[in-house]
Amino acid sequence: MSQPTPEVYEQGKGMDAHNQVMREIRSRKEASYDPHEPTRVWLDEDNTPDGVKQSLTIILNTGGCRWARAGGCTMCGYVAESVDGGSVSHEALMNQIDVCLEHEQENGDEPAQLIKIYTSGSFLDEREVGAKTRRAIADTFADRERIVVESLPDFVDREKIGEFTQHGIDTDVAIGLETATDRVRHDCVNKYFDFADFEDACAEAALADEDADGKADAGIKAYLLMKPPFLTESEAAADMISSIERCAAVEGCHTVSMNPCNVQRYTMVDELYFDDGYRPPWLWSVAHVLEETADVDAIVVSDPVGHGSDRGPHNCQECDDLVQKAIKDFDLRQDPAVFEQVSCECERTWEVVMERERSFNQPLTR
Ligand code: SF4
Ligand SMILES: [Zn+2]
Repeated sequence: MSQPTPEVYEQGKGMDAHNQVMREIRSRKEASYDPHEPTRVWLDEDNTPDGVKQSLTIILNTGGCRWARAGGCTMCGYVAESVDGGSVSHEALMNQIDVCLEHEQENGDEPAQLIKIYTSGSFLDEREVGAKTRRAIADTFADRERIVVESLPDFVDREKIGEFTQHGIDTDVAIGLETATDRVRHDCVNKYFDFADFEDACAEAALADEDADGKADAGIKAYLLMKPPFLTESEAAADMISSIERCAAVEGCHTVSMNPCNVQRYTMVDELYFDDGYRPPWLWSVAHVLEETADVDAIVVSDPVGHGSDRGPHNCQECDDLVQKAIKDFDLRQDPAVFEQVSCECERTWEVVMERERSFNQPLTR
C-alpha cells in the first residue's frame, strides 16, 4: 500500500499551490523583448558606506529567474519582461552594457562611481550570466569605485565576488531576502530559501572582503519587501522592524533596502488587488519603520516605487509627494528628524488601520 510522503502531501498545497497559481498567471504574458536592449537604465544618486554617489542602474535583460519559471514570488512581475527562450548570449549581454554606457555618456556629466546591475534574477547564476560575461563586465567597470550586483543567496561565493574586488572595485551583492522571517518569506512571498542561507551568503562576502586584503570592500545589501500579501498593515510594519534589526546584526551585511510592495502585472498580488484583497503599504508605515530602526548598525534606505498611485505605496494623495521626499531625504542623511516635519490629516486614518486591521475579521460576533 502506498504511504503518504511529505512530497505528496505538499502537492496542491503550500508552496506547490502558490507555484501552480503563479505559473498560470505568468503564462498570460505575451510581450517579448529584444535581447540586445537592457530592460531599463537610469542615472540617480545613492547612499553607500562611503557617502552619497552618482549611480548608474542597469536592469539587464537575461533569461529571467529560474525560480520565476517554476512559479515564483507572489509579487514579482519582472519575468514578464525577460527574454523568451530563457537565455541570452554573451554578445547580446555586452550589447546591452554598451547601450547603458551610451545612456550614461549622453545624460551624465561624468562616469558614475556606483554601478548597480540587476537582472530580474541572479547576476551570479552561471545560467543567466556566464563566467566570460561576468568577467568582461568586471573589466568594463574596473575604473569605477563600487558595484552592486543582484543575486539569490545560493549563487554567492567568494571567488565570484573576487573577480570584481581584484580590480579594486568595492563590491556588494544585493540579495532579495524580502524578510528575515522564514514563515513570511515562504508563505506570503513564496520564496524558497531560508534566513540561514542569507547568513551563509553574508559569510561568503565577509571571506571575499578578507581576501581583498584592504584593496576593496565586499559586502551584502539586503533587499526587504514591505507588506507582502496576506499580512495586515501592522503585521507588515512589525515584520519589517524585526527584519531590519536581524539583518543589521549579521556580519557582512552593511545596508538594508526596505522596499514597499507595489502591484505588478502578471502576479498573485495583482489578482488579489483586483478582488480587493490587497492594498500596497501606506507611506506612513514606511516612515514609521525607518524611524523605529534609525539606530541599527547598518544603512537603512527605502525607495518607494510608484508612490502616490493606487498600485504603489500611498497615503491620501495630498501628502504622498511630501512623505516620499522625506523618505528620500532620510535615505541620504539617515536622520529620522525629517519625519517630524511632515504631517497630514490622513495620519489618523493610518493609525486606525494599524490598530484595527485584521487578516481575518469574521465572524464579528459570537
Ligand atoms: S523576486 Fe527574484 S526570486 Fe522571486 S521570482 Fe522575482 S526574480 Fe525570481
Ligand atoms: Zn495625507
